Amino acid sequence: MSSKLRLEGKVAIITGAASGIGEAAARLFVENGAFVVIADIQDELGHEVVGSIGSEKASYKHCDVRNEKQVEETVAFALEKYGTLDIMYSNAGIGGPLTSILEMDMEKFNSTMATNVSGVAVTIKHAARAMLDRKIRGSIICTASVAGTLGGLGPHDYTTSKHAILGLVRSACSELGTYGIRINCVSPFGVGTPLASEMIKLEASVVEAMSCEMAYLKGITLKAKHIAEAALFLASEESVFMSGHNLVVDGGFTVASNSYPVTAAAATS
Ligand code: NAD
Repeated sequence: MSSKLRLEGKVAIITGAASGIGEAAARLFVENGAFVVIADIQDELGHEVVGSIGSEKASYKHCDVRNEKQVEETVAFALEKYGTLDIMYSNAGIGGPLTSILEMDMEKFNSTMATNVSGVAVTIKHAARAMLDRKIRGSIICTASVAGTLGGLGPHDYTTSKHAILGLVRSACSELGTYGIRINCVSPFGVGTPLASEMIKLEASVVEAMSCEMAYLKGITLKAKHIAEAALFLASEESVFMSGHNLVVDGGFTVASNSYPVTAAAATS
């Protein structure tokens, strides 16, 4: 690989970048030459991340993705501060309630959709408008989940919302390609972040141990940095002909089943 920085001079907005996967992506994008707007609702944490990255390459903007005006203002902020917008990484999300489908609380269901689906749709809308107006061949990335591929990996509301991200990405891809704008998503397996711990009521180290145990690929503990690497690939020119793709980072978990070895063992015993 060439030594050239993979995002040299590019401008990115990353939602949900005050913590977890978004924070790791902000650090990695800056290491690769990008200017990054950290967009989140955790203002103190967001400012701390900027402080540790350095304010010449990163800035913080309060942005609640449930509020379209704030998303629009965040895009305007990036354009004004850095003069362009090449990458929108729509990553902010919430876990939603861990309840039985029989006890589903429709207000909470709608609240999960407001962040995880509407909040992503509106970032796609305003990023794509900015890119189209300026004829930027940009890259939009969304964080879906393995729960967007398989049921039973997370709460019902969350699973529904993450399946919707795949649909949104595929639908937007069919229109945005005309303008040279790519849109893809990255689907992480369990990473020990506050969201994952709170969602399934387990410590971060237990979330990581479960991913290690369930993935077919052994010998690696999945970290936020690994998801950020996948997002970096989708943000960079290395994925220049990829659009509508779901880049799953799960050590093979969603593409294979244990059933054959079990059947084979039973047949030979
Ligand atoms: P995290 O809790 O570390 O980060 C989530 C960030 O989103 C937080 O900084 C939070 O303040 C922000 N956020 C929440 N609501 C927001 C809103 N309305 N507006 C703006 N920002 C908001 O968790 P994470 O695991 O890094 O989550 C990032 C993304 O990764 C989420 O979309 C999540 O669904 C997805 N994901 C996580 C895992 C995992 O195991 N951690 C697995 C699959 C997918």
